[in-house]
Amino acid sequence: MPLKNKPRKRGLKLAVTLLSGLLPIALGVVILYMQAERALVQNAQETAEEAIRQFELMLDNTAQAARELLPLAGQSCLDVKLALREQVTRRPFVRSTNLMWDDTIYCSSLFGDYHEKVSSGDYAGGRLLLMRGNPVTPDTALLIYRLEDGKRGALSTLDGYHLSNVLRLIGRQTLLVLQVGNNSLTADGHFHEGALPDFPVAQSMLKSSRYDFSVAAGFPEGETWRYMSSEYPPLFSLLIFFGVISGAIGHVLQKRSTSPTYEMQRALEAAEFVPYFQAVVHGDSKKVSGVEVLMRWNHPKEGLVRPDLFIPFAEHSGLIVPMTRSLMQQTAALLAPLSSSFDEPFHIGINITASHCQNLELVKDCREFLHAFAPGSIHLVLELTERELIEPTAITHQLFEQLHELGVMIAIDDFGTGHSSLGYLRQFNVDFLKIDQSFVAMIGVDTLTSHILDSIIQLAGKLDLAMVAEGVETQAQSDYLTAHNVNFQQGYLYGRPMPGAEFISALSDH
Ligand code: C2E
Ligand code: CA
Ligand code: CA
Repeated sequence: MPLKNKPRKRGLKLAVTLLSGLLPIALGVVILYMQAERALVQNAQETAEEAIRQFELMLDNTAQAARELLPLAGQSCLDVKLALREQVTRRPFVRSTNLMWDDTIYCSSLFGDYHEKVSSGDYAGGRLLLMRGNPVTPDTALLIYRLEDGKRGALSTLDGYHLSNVLRLIGRQTLLVLQVGNNSLTADGHFHEGALPDFPVAQSMLKSSRYDFSVAAGFPEGETWRYMSSEYPPLFSLLIFFGVISGAIGHVLQKRSTSPTYEMQRALEAAEFVPYFQAVVHGDSKKVSGVEVLMRWNHPKEGLVRPDLFIPFAEHSGLIVPMTRSLMQQTAALLAPLSSSFDEPFHIGINITASHCQNLELVKDCREFLHAFAPGSIHLVLELTERELIEPTAITHQLFEQLHELGVMIAIDDFGTGHSSLGYLRQFNVDFLKIDQSFVAMIGVDTLTSHILDSIIQLAGKLDLAMVAEGVETQAQSDYLTAHNVNFQQGYLYGRPMPGAEFISALSDH
């Protein structure tokens, strides 16, 4: 069946709907993830810059102490001890000061006279050394600033407590590490020797332009998702909203593309609806008097489809009107070239429905059809099934009047199966009655049905209407109908519906 949704496709449809909903969400999440990563990198860099600024300020303060003490180096410790202590008291970040001579500490603010060799190679750039602690506070890191001038030298010490405080306060969510030479200090105040492991997220490393230290900043594992969940909830809602909209659009588009109307619209544009032709013969001579045009759907996958499987859909969607127009155009193109060879007006029967009777478009289609043939060479017969009654309105009145003026004839199809009254027959100016094949099939089989058939034949005679018997399959049926003066016959006995080329060659053989 070309117009039924196949169950095996349902899973695929659901998958496509889900995909069209999830794809924009997934894409949005990827974009937000990249955006969050960028934001974190920027955040880490700004934090590192801020930490560097703070450390430089603190080092300025510490270096100032060393600068002021340097000229005193070489003097006796007893004379300069107070000056050393004064710097410690005056400068907020300075914890201790020392004087050196020839790379040897000889005076300390803390101990007074002192003796310790200093190796300038331990100092980054000869200036800075980060230490784990000193004998007084072994667990508190120290940053030592060294200044020298010839044999003179001064050291001022910055308390690691201030440094780790800065790392903690500025860092907050960001992990910060102060790195001096090979040593580093983390926000928890811990001293580390050697290289620190990398930060998993948004790692950046900034160097101070004024002192020999750098600050590494970054975030722990999973920070990007944490950042997204705290910063982007409104965007997530928006994404879900777009996902739902996109899923719904995907669903509707699929539904549309598999809907019978869409499928038939496609078939119409692809000219898949083609005419088949079945001969109608004279009741007495059995000579071909005309043809009934029957629609077939030449479906690319399903093959030739019978009309009763798709005509109801075509009627429902209103596509039957353009489909019939296409059928009439194809019929005219096939049969018009033969029209000059017809000895008497050739009947061409076209099936129409109630949808055709809602406006006057049919008149134009019939006029064009008739114009294609040699004048007077054909009789166009519109077959209107009795199964669906047409409401008489001003439009139908006008329509049938104009059709009549054009010389178009009307046949009531499937006569005997519906309930058309005599008034109905008169209203539409009927020319033919097509006796339904169910009555023909009962000839010689069911006497009651044969009585009905006889009454129909009598009624048609009284109303002076020509008759066509449909579905004539046997010689007995044919003889019975001929004996009862039925004007025309149609059925497999005389020929099945066939494609145009085949019909034309059968006609010329005749
Ligand atoms: P219908 O108008 O009553 O057409 C006669 C149907 O009987 C055709 O079926 C024809 O193939 C079949 N038939 C002819 N001779 C015999 C016979 O000796 N024995 C039997 N058993 N059947 C015979 P088909 O072509 O399948 O069409 C079925 C129906 O579809 C038509 O019934 C008509 O109502 C509709 N139809 C066909 N083409 C069109 C069309 O272009 N427009 C509209 N609106 N309806 C159409
Ligand atoms: Ca018919
Ligand atoms: Ca019929």
